[in-house]
Order: sequence, then structure tokens, then C-alpha cells
Amino acid sequence: MNATIWFAAGSQHLYGPQTLAQVEADAKKIAQALNDSGAIRLNIQYKATLTCADDITAYMRKLNADPDAVGTILWMHTFSPAKMWIQGLKELSKPFVHLHTQFNRDIPWSDIDMDYMNLHQSAHGGREFGFICTRLRKERTVIAGHWQDTQVQKRLDTWAGAALAWADSRTGKVARFGDNMRDVAVTEGDKVAAQETFGYQVHGYGVGDLIDCIQKTPDREAAAIVEECLSAYDVTPELLPGGAKHEILKDSAKIEAGLAAFLKEGGFTAFTTTFEDLHGFRQLPGLAVQRLMEKGYGFGAEGDWKTAALVRAVKVMADNRGTSFMEDYTYHLEEGNMMVLGAHMLEVCPSIAAGKPRLEAFPLSIGGKGDPARLIFTAATGPAVNASIIDLGDRFRMVVNTVTAVAPSQPLKKLPVASVLWKPDPDLKTAAAGWIYAGGAHHSAFSTGITYRELDDFCSFAGIEMVLIDGHTDLFRLRQELRVSDRAY
Ligand code: MN
Repeated sequence: MNATIWFAAGSQHLYGPQTLAQVEADAKKIAQALNDSGAIRLNIQYKATLTCADDITAYMRKLNADPDAVGTILWMHTFSPAKMWIQGLKELSKPFVHLHTQFNRDIPWSDIDMDYMNLHQSAHGGREFGFICTRLRKERTVIAGHWQDTQVQKRLDTWAGAALAWADSRTGKVARFGDNMRDVAVTEGDKVAAQETFGYQVHGYGVGDLIDCIQKTPDREAAAIVEECLSAYDVTPELLPGGAKHEILKDSAKIEAGLAAFLKEGGFTAFTTTFEDLHGFRQLPGLAVQRLMEKGYGFGAEGDWKTAALVRAVKVMADNRGTSFMEDYTYHLEEGNMMVLGAHMLEVCPSIAAGKPRLEAFPLSIGGKGDPARLIFTAATGPAVNASIIDLGDRFRMVVNTVTAVAPSQPLKKLPVASVLWKPDPDLKTAAAGWIYAGGAHHSAFSTGITYRELDDFCSFAGIEMVLIDGHTDLFRLRQELRVSDRAY
């Protein structure tokens, strides 16, 4: 997919050919300048200046049908009577930005006349267009400000990331090896509703199908993975060639090669495993999962396909930087310095690592298999988000918490897994209670590569609710919001 964003200006015939030629020239200039800025990850293609209902509807149909177009930017340079937009907007099935900008940044104080006023009408043209979008209940992203403003460009880029993730979600496929962990509630959900809402398919396999694929994978592919691991990580001596546990590394590499082949063959974008279904494995896939996540696959442990698909979506939004499957594991409840230690049994993505990961093998008390290899590291610090997706029975809800990843004050010398320590906004007590009121899961997608804005856009594309817990969250208002949302959705 050569992903692009379409760009169109809205106007009308009343202005005459001279003004419309100016509108078109200005729109082309803005599209070109946005591309030249380098601030937006996808190429923006100026397509049309739209002046009548038939052209608008035709534009939307072409946009819907173009597999490379993730969505469109619409800009009202002048007034564009919005009844013309009704049919087109009703047919539009892709994300759109209403870019509420004006060609000239400043009012030309001494020269301004009615000709100038008639050309630069975004201030009221944008309101007419906005009204019909609201009246039609069209979810969209409104970005207001001058097009050369770096904040406006940055916001366009976050929307582009979300639109790209949405296009990926609509064609995505999750492979499940085994079912959900027995008796767990939050990792369950309606797969038909998920496909209807997010587009992605969820396909289940017996773990034997994967074992077959692993056994058929040529040894040279596994050998290449071993070589890669030896150079990429600080490998513990016992895993090195000739070391007492080297066979574990070779076995893990074989799992990885087979799993990668299975995912590639089936066109999968995410996958799940479960420690309760490991028949034929000699070790729980740890290192293999970590490395495949690093390559961009979504992942959910214990059969958690919703989180696997969410991790994939966030990886697309974040351009695969700093994003991992995550679990709230343990608290530090010291007054004034409360934190969450996030980790998992094994499966944390090295894209969030602060430095070079260590590669080691330790026994695992769960799953009843041999010592699994795993990468161990602490995460890079900085602002991040945690996101969870839950099935409420009649709809999906995303719960998002803005957090700050921090460095541990002391080394976690005996912790045999990768981890990340974070301080949630507005504080741990409020964040944890709010998350629990909202029904957020213990599994999440953790990312330092996005903000909550991408997730907000993504939820609007999907038509689902997003609950945000951030620096402004107050528990009383949050509980009221949850009650109102239950009625609204
Ligand atoms: Mn888990």
C-alpha cells in the first residue's frame, strides 16, 4: 500500500472562474507546502476544488474506492453551501479532517477591501460546512489554525497516523494459537462485533498447526536468527554456543522462524499465544514473541486478541516506535511517589527498551515447560500512554491513561523480565480507581510513540467510546461521564 491523503477545497460557482482559479492555486500551494514541511508522514495529493453536489459525491465515491487513500483533508477556502455536501458526506466511508485554516495568516490592515473579504471566507465557510457535518452526525477531526503553524501540521500528522492504523485495522488479521486463558473475563469478547466495528478478522488455530509449521521450517532460518541474537543482545554465557543452555536459544529461534513463516503465509498482522495451550512446545514462546512484536506484529498473551489488535494499531500509529503489549503488574504505593511496575511473564517488546537488552533463560513457574529465553531490559523514560480495549457486551470501549515512564531508583537485579515503571496522570489513586470504574483491562498497549490524540481519532473512526484519564481527571466527573456514556452509546 502506497498510502496517501487526498486534499480538496470547497467552494461554489457564484464566485466566477477567476476566484475559483485562485482557490485552486491556493489549495495546491497548501498541499505542496504541507508535503514540503516534512511534518506529515503521508503524501498529500491535491485532487479538486469542489463546487457542486455532483462533483462532491463523485469525489467521495472515488476516495472510497481508492485502496491507497486513507482519508481526505477538506478545506473551505470560501463559502460552500453545505446542502451540496449532504450526499457526498453520507457516502464517505473513510476518515476526514476538516482543516479550518485560511490562506493568509494576517489581515492586510491597510489594503483590505471586499474582494479580499470575499476570497478569504474560511471563518464563515468553515462554520457552514461544520454545521452539516454535525447535523449528519459525521465523526471527523477538526483542526483549526494557520496551515504553516507547526502545531497544526503536527496535529495533521497524528491524524494521518490514526488514519493509517484505521486502514490497517480494516484489513488486519489476528491469528490465535489456543483459546483465552480459562475463566478470564476481560480477554473475552464478540469477534463478530469486533470485525464489524474494527474490520480485522480473528482466526483460531490449534497449537499443533503452528508446531507443524515450526518443524517444517529449514534449520538454516533458525541458525540465522541465532546469529542475529548473538550480535544484537548482551547474551548470557550459558546461552552462547557451547554454553549449558545454548539448545534453548536454538529452540527459541526455531519457534520464531516457524511462527514468522506462519504469520507471513497467512497475511496476519497480530497474534496471540496462551500458556495453557503449549502442547508440542519445549518452552513458552518468549524471545520469539518479543522479536516479532519488535518487527511490528501486534501481540496479546493468554489469548487476548482484542489487545493484540490494539497493539498492532498503536504500532502503526507510532511507526513502530516505543510500543509494547503491557500488563499492570505491581504497585509502588509510597506516599508522594506512587508508581506502577508494568511487565509480563516474558512478552514485552524491545522497541521500548532504554538500552541494549540482555538475553537470558530462566525457569518459569507457570506453563510447566522448559526454561524460556527472554530479553530483559528497563524501558526508556518519558511521556507515554496506556490503552485498553474492552467489550461491554453491547459495544466496545477504549480506556486511555496518560502516564510518564520513569527510571527505577534502584536496579531490579533479580527481576528476570523486561519492565517499565510509570507514574499515571493525574496520580495513581485517581488513575487506578478511574481505570477500574471504566472497566479497563489488566492488559494494555503501552506506547511512548503516540499521544491520546491518535487514539481519540481512531475511536472516532470506529464509532466507539474513549474514556480518557489524564491530568484533568476528577473521579466524580469521570463517574458521571461513564453514566452518561452508557445512555449515549
Ligand atoms: Mn497477562
